[in-house]
Amino acid sequence: MEKYIIGNLKMNLLTQAERNHYLASFSSELKKSKFSNSRVVLCPPMVHMEKFAGVFRGSEVQVGVQNVYFEERGSFTGEVSPLMVKNFGGEYAIAGHSERRRYFGETNEVANEKIKIALKSGLRPVYCIGETEDERRKDLTFEVISRQIEEGLLGIANTQADRLIIAYEPIWAVGTDVVPESNEVMEVRILIRKILSELYSPELAERIPILYGGSVKAKSAAQVCVDPGMDGVLVGRESLIPMEFLKIANIIDKS
Ligand code: PEP
Repeated sequence: MEKYIIGNLKMNLLTQAERNHYLASFSSELKKSKFSNSRVVLCPPMVHMEKFAGVFRGSEVQVGVQNVYFEERGSFTGEVSPLMVKNFGGEYAIAGHSERRRYFGETNEVANEKIKIALKSGLRPVYCIGETEDERRKDLTFEVISRQIEEGLLGIANTQADRLIIAYEPIWAVGTDVVPESNEVMEVRILIRKILSELYSPELAERIPILYGGSVKAKSAAQVCVDPGMDGVLVGRESLIPMEFLKIANIIDKS
């Protein structure tokens, strides 16, 4: 299966100068790489999306967003619809990220609405799931993950499911520099694949990429992605350093 290396730039790149420096540095690093089996995706803040899409048009890099609203248009002050993102060059939309769940009360049901409309608008949703440290300690990981998948993917038909991307991000590993062991990631990958094959057919479930996210760095990419058989990574902080992000992409692409 094709691999996905997705960068979540979060709420960074505060000035035009900073953004332009990032883009120039990313483009120059990109020239040194040739990916044979991977898609490299950057999800900048919404204000930068159109610019990123323009700069990377025709290159190996695709662009997405960190969030969308679950309506197509109308009186929803401050929101951006997936159709707008698509029309301005975006291809992916993250849904259910743990920071959205934590700070904005995004539930599995809200993520489900966003995933449905993202698919309808021609975007590929990147659905983030994962347990907290407390849930892991109480041995609730499988239960939490199962519920997140079942509720988050409710009503998504077979015909659309192969455009989904799942990102397993244990919350205790996001932004912390703590990473799970390979076997811990692998156990959850197997569980996710099992749930997907119960929701859809096993053949279809095999085609849905399952990524790992949480403190990925070049030095941990093999441990959290390659060794446990994941289909790529969702990278936060390291995606702000083009050289490091592309190093991760190269390790995964060549694996
Ligand atoms: C993320 O926010 O999705 C993430 C994985 O962040 P970090 O890599 O910084 O832990």
